[in-house]
Amino acid sequence: MYDLDCLGTFSIHYYETPEGVYLAFCPDLEEEDLKSRKIDPEFGLPYNQVIQVLKDLEIWGFIDEENCIHVWTSQETEISKILRFFGHEIGHLLYDYLAEDEACEDVADSYGFTVECAYTLSQKLLEIMEKSEEIAEKPLRTSEVNGLIFLPED
Ligand SMILES: [Zn+2]
Repeated sequence: MYDLDCLGTFSIHYYETPEGVYLAFCPDLEEEDLKSRKIDPEFGLPYNQVIQVLKDLEIWGFIDEENCIHVWTSQETEISKILRFFGHEIGHLLYDYLAEDEACEDVADSYGFTVECAYTLSQKLLEIMEKSEEIAEKPLRTSEVNGLIFLPED
């Protein structure tokens, strides 16, 4: 049903700092303008707190009208969070990010969550597959991964 062709061509613009990606998000404003604002309109926080929020998130960005995904991430960010980020941004495309309605962030979050879950489950499956050769002869006694995949206890 979905393939990448239906979404068009993507590009990625990587920023080395959260300040950099946030400035790109506010193209009409210079850094001095942002810093001098008491409250940032997007987050409802002072600029320095916005930057701290982005640092706490470890990854932040946005997708523009040309399917360029602007992103900053810390060097320590786990792959599951990075996948969740891209799932979220692609979710905007699938939902039509231009709609800008109140639900669009929730819908995009659900795509991000879905991708993160799929990653976690695929990691679990790979773990199980690695073990399964050693345990193939043992009877199944218990379940893991919410009963989706059955494994011996030991
Ligand atoms: Zn979003």
